[in-house]
Amino acid sequence: MILAPEVETLPWEEQLAADDEPYRAQLRYLFERSTFFGERLRAAGFASAEAAGGLAGIAALPLADKHELKATTTSENPIGAHLCAEPGEIARIYSTSGTTGTPSYIPLTAGDVDNWVTGSARSYAASGIAPGERIVSTYNAGPFAAGAALASFERIGLCHIPVGTGNTERLVRAIGLLAPEVAVLTPSYAAHLIEWTAERDIDLRASSVRRVLVAGEPGGGEPAFRARLEDGWNAQVTEAMGIGDIGVSLFGECEAQDGMHLGARGFVHLELIDPDSGAALALEDGGSGELVLTHLRHRAAPLLRFRTRDHVEIRMGTCSCGRTGPRVRCLGRTDDMLIVRGVNLFPAAVREVVSAFEPRVTGHVLVRPTDAGVKQEPPLPVSVELARGASADEALAGAIRDRLRSALLVTTRVDLVPWGTLQRSEYKSKLVEH
Ligand SMILES: [Zn+2]
Repeated sequence: MILAPEVETLPWEEQLAADDEPYRAQLRYLFERSTFFGERLRAAGFASAEAAGGLAGIAALPLADKHELKATTTSENPIGAHLCAEPGEIARIYSTSGTTGTPSYIPLTAGDVDNWVTGSARSYAASGIAPGERIVSTYNAGPFAAGAALASFERIGLCHIPVGTGNTERLVRAIGLLAPEVAVLTPSYAAHLIEWTAERDIDLRASSVRRVLVAGEPGGGEPAFRARLEDGWNAQVTEAMGIGDIGVSLFGECEAQDGMHLGARGFVHLELIDPDSGAALALEDGGSGELVLTHLRHRAAPLLRFRTRDHVEIRMGTCSCGRTGPRVRCLGRTDDMLIVRGVNLFPAAVREVVSAFEPRVTGHVLVRPTDAGVKQEPPLPVSVELARGASADEALAGAIRDRLRSALLVTTRVDLVPWGTLQRSEYKSKLVEH
């Protein structure tokens, strides 16, 4: 179902033309209200919004990242110098997990919340879910921005059954008794459910769930990992992706399963850059780079050329579903990327290659870099978990090592570990341990 056909099938060139005026208005708003972006643009030689120009010239403007925003927080302004709205205009404040101390705060006006839900609803509707169907969700309502996606299910016209995170018994009972057609969860949790039900002789393949919507981490788009989920659930798996500071479920995959369409088109502008040089890259079919996003109609704390640290591959052109928005597949966080003797490696790619060895292995992997930082000397240690009852086998370890080298051009040391050794997650999996 295309939720907003007049928007989602508009030729992309026309979308860019339509986005130019809101972008210029957003720049004027930043010059008026944003201490952070006003100062930054002036320092870069742009005295006014007019001087900064239109969307065609966006690549000349400075990039911004999360650390720079965070560095401007004070006890008087815990949100940061990019805050534009007056206190009375702010309707909601989300926070990040704050793994390094104080969380980052993400304020939204009522209009911002509504725009988030509009984009998120388009992204999730792309999966093929239809009004009247039941969806069971496993995301908690707060404090994280992901909770805002929950409102999009009602917007689509679904019956929403929230069960929250971390209660597998409750989830499985809800699936059994309430017979939802759709389940939404992280890919790690979807994989965990396959094992969990198998151990208890519950036939997940026979459940009512025909669509599994995964989000929250990369993986749902990796072919072998996706095939495992689709087989275990006997359901179609499509993925969605949001960026906390920019918007929730900005992207959502359609039934063609060829990358996630930008559902938040008209609200967010998308660019790709080279993560090392910061140089803008052309948006070409098959291109890849770090995703950079700009708000077009945001009020509370709009961001300009925000570095997401997500490395994506992009597909352009009209999709078989009729949508014209660019599609992305997330290859991994640039923060998780390792460079092994000059070769870029995303841990998710290791998992994808190892998945080809199922059912002899479970598909759980853990990359264990020996050197601190990004650059690694080969062989790179990788733990691969064996199937239940299987014992370590030098030939298997060698075959996995050879496949990793030919597919990813990286020399590894494969350690086969017994079943159950690597951590299962009800939320997000850890693929790297330094
Ligand atoms: Zn499509």
